[in-house]
Amino acid sequence: MAEKSKPYFPLAGGADDGWSKEDSATATCYCGAVQLAFPTQGPGLLSTFVCHCTDCRKITASMFASNFTVANTHLTHIRGRDNLTAYGQSRTIASGKLMTNYFCSTCGTLMYRVREASAGMSILRIGTVDDFHLHETKLKPRRELYVKDRVAWLSALEGVEQFGEQRSR
Ligand SMILES: [Zn+2]
Ligand SMILES: [Zn+2]
Repeated sequence: MAEKSKPYFPLAGGADDGWSKEDSATATCYCGAVQLAFPTQGPGLLSTFVCHCTDCRKITASMFASNFTVANTHLTHIRGRDNLTAYGQSRTIASGKLMTNYFCSTCGTLMYRVREASAGMSILRIGTVDDFHLHETKLKPRRELYVKDRVAWLSALEGVEQFGEQRSR
């Protein structure tokens, strides 16, 4: 078990140059080609949440997504922006508006999603954040969305606000 009070950068993926500071940190794709910097507190960090909706299940190839939202004014592409592939659709998005997903073209990691309905912010993925200590502290989910779609073998996160459907801010 890693010590929980210090930055913790375990061997994970191809890059080893992630960092975290007092108020910002990096998120890197699996192969290391794409790296972002984002704020770990307000006003740039908007929210943190887990989403169980059917769309999140499919796009993560897992049972839920663990996300955080960042104001685009506070999001920096350190490298690899031109290595991102965009794919969007609106059919399975609750708002009916386009959601565009940005994947690393080399390794396929989904780095962020952008909603047409919420221009100005990007939805990043907690699992791409290099300092794993942040997964448990500043980026710990504050909300749980679409709990009506949660798999039966998973229980509610203790002390985390529960929403049956969308409530992502
Ligand atoms: Zn990659
Ligand atoms: Zn979702």
